[in-house]
Amino acid sequence: MSNARRPLIAGNWKMNLTLAEAVALADGLKRRIGRLRNVDLAIAPSFLYLAPVLGRLAGERIRVGGQDLHAGEYGAFTSAVSAPQLKSLGVTFVLAGHSERRHVFGDTDAQVSQKVDAALAHGLEVILCIGETLDERDAKDTFAVCERQLVTGLANVTEDMLHRVTLAYEPVWAIGTGRTASPGQAQEVHRHVREWIAEQYSEAAAQQLRILYGGSVKPENVDALMDGADVDGALVGGASLDVDKFSKIATFGS
Ligand code: PEP
Repeated sequence: MSNARRPLIAGNWKMNLTLAEAVALADGLKRRIGRLRNVDLAIAPSFLYLAPVLGRLAGERIRVGGQDLHAGEYGAFTSAVSAPQLKSLGVTFVLAGHSERRHVFGDTDAQVSQKVDAALAHGLEVILCIGETLDERDAKDTFAVCERQLVTGLANVTEDMLHRVTLAYEPVWAIGTGRTASPGQAQEVHRHVREWIAEQYSEAAAQQLRILYGGSVKPENVDALMDGADVDGALVGGASLDVDKFSKIATFGS
């Protein structure tokens, strides 16, 4: 995912679909948007379906990634999946710090940082998710929360590694709720994040870094969101489970 600021539309399938449905969805996406050239595409199926979906999408431009990972390599971590295991399947990227991992499973900032480090160490690219809860937004802590998550999440990421990282700003109050951040709210945070990256790394690093927006993205709102100068794509949950909706999002602006 290293193309400088070419839009990236990524789907997070979460804990959804049967095997047959996952394969059918992959086939449908291949048919509808597999040949798109002006946008990068990625999907993150359940771990269970990574191998068959990778098989269906072999040689296609739709990249397949994991929704999470364990920071260790191998060992007694029942149910966990590690970066080298993902890599061995042919997976090329992984999400880290998704709000459901943080708020449902209790991943701490420090654990997210370890996951980012493990993924990068094993040659995976990372989509690092950040974002505030509704209480934090109401308390005007949005920037502070995002900065805290970035400080920790990127603690060991040097500038020469940053091209393998994509950020996703996902306000928790907009995920799976049908409530989208307004284009202005999204752009305001994206600009702040890019300025923060410029201060911590360099202007060049900030200009090449992709920042996705996530939170109830749909065909109806994607164009307005993508109008934001610092919005470089979308991380899509619910609408990524529907071939038609995800394809329309991927062809935003047309
Ligand atoms: C997500 O899971 O990252 C997400 C943004 O979900 P949804 O699009 O359903 O809000």
